[in-house]
Amino acid sequence: MNYKTIEMGMNKKIALVAHDRKKRDLIEWAKFNRDLLAHHKVYATGTTGVALERELKFPVKRLESGPLGGDQQIGSMIVEGEIDFLIFFWDPLEPQPHDPDVKALLRMAVVWNIPIACDRASADFIISSPLMDSIYERIVPDYSEYRSRPIPGEPVVIVPGRA
Ligand code: PGA
Repeated sequence: MNYKTIEMGMNKKIALVAHDRKKRDLIEWAKFNRDLLAHHKVYATGTTGVALERELKFPVKRLESGPLGGDQQIGSMIVEGEIDFLIFFWDPLEPQPHDPDVKALLRMAVVWNIPIACDRASADFIISSPLMDSIYERIVPDYSEYRSRPIPGEPVVIVPGRA
């Protein structure tokens, strides 16, 4: 497979999401890293975002609450290149009503090769990476081959896309 690159700027667009029993963890992590996060653009699902804004005291762009479509909004932003990495503290011990959305969001992150941290240790490694504050050329598979795949009984079409 061929590859293309998508540039991540010096100021990253970060999405923060936590399930209810993981929210305290995420808030503590974000408070500890507040100064590192402050110059990036922070997005969050609705309820996570309210708590983060209250504790961090800088603007957080809030989307819909996760179970009401917030995870899907973030997934769509990843596709559009509007999110550079995802911190998602999902709860491994609690079933979620929006489990398909959670799976879809994690899948989109892998399709577009954006970094994902699902626990505090991974989030610590990401936030302390020197790449956080530099331009990064993210490698993404060249999906044009997939877009122009033969469909039985259909003429070959080329669907335009970002990568
Ligand atoms: P919430 O959503 O921040 O609105 O609670 C989190 C989630 O995706 O479950």
